[in-house]
Amino acid sequence: MAKPLNDLSQLCMHTITTKPWPIEKAAHEFSEAGIGGITVWRDALTGRNIRETGTMLRGLNLEIVSLCRGGFFSADTVADRQKAIDDNLHAIDEAFDLGAPLVVLVCGATPGQALSESRKQIQEGISACLEHAAAAEIKLAIEPLHPMYAGDRSAINTLEQANNMAEAIRSPWVGVALDVYHLWWDPNLEAQIKRCGQNGNLSAFHICDWKTPTTDMLNDRGLMGEGCIDIKLIRTWVEESGFNGFYEAEIFSNLYWNEDQDAFLQKIKQAYLKYS
Ligand code: ZN
Repeated sequence: MAKPLNDLSQLCMHTITTKPWPIEKAAHEFSEAGIGGITVWRDALTGRNIRETGTMLRGLNLEIVSLCRGGFFSADTVADRQKAIDDNLHAIDEAFDLGAPLVVLVCGATPGQALSESRKQIQEGISACLEHAAAAEIKLAIEPLHPMYAGDRSAINTLEQANNMAEAIRSPWVGVALDVYHLWWDPNLEAQIKRCGQNGNLSAFHICDWKTPTTDMLNDRGLMGEGCIDIKLIRTWVEESGFNGFYEAEIFSNLYWNEDQDAFLQKIKQAYLKYS
């Protein structure tokens, strides 16, 4: 089994997890708590000087783990697909300015279009960004999403599909992101994490829990330990594959966003140490 987590140094908080807090306040609180990393959502940077924000985060001893998110490559027309590529090039620039080594991709799906066609467009879109990513030394991580989002958010729904695409692209600047919320149900998960151990593609590990019943398909994620995901078991596989990065708390929750965020952060810390 995975070793016990005795402190918060390997915990990374997503800014969206404490969405009511502006990034300056969130960063201060995370740093005070001894949390080691932060993943920045692009909306948290609105109206900020991105370079200065990166300096501020590093000054608080927070490692900037990734920028969320790029992607949404599939579209009905060539012009819209180019727009998506342009936005991803811009995301790479933002990651560079921030000092984040990774951009996480929610790859996209277009209603009414075959998933296989969307996947083809996603692969073309990622490939079109590679030169820019390499020049900036920013890695792109394909994050598979739960099949409930296959209609409009991602045509990549399993780690196998993400591994297939990353291996087909074969670039040091493309990897995969594993989010337990999206993948916990997959009987092939252990084998596909092992495959990451061989191809070296595992670039991010996102944690939260799947509540039963789930009341909202997007914004009802649970704290670690609050649902049915065996996070410790999945972390064991992840560590056995050689991954030694951060464990990223990514909890979209209308319930918790409506609570006092200081109290919520205390709950996250406890849940992380006990159930992750
Ligand atoms: Zn995620």
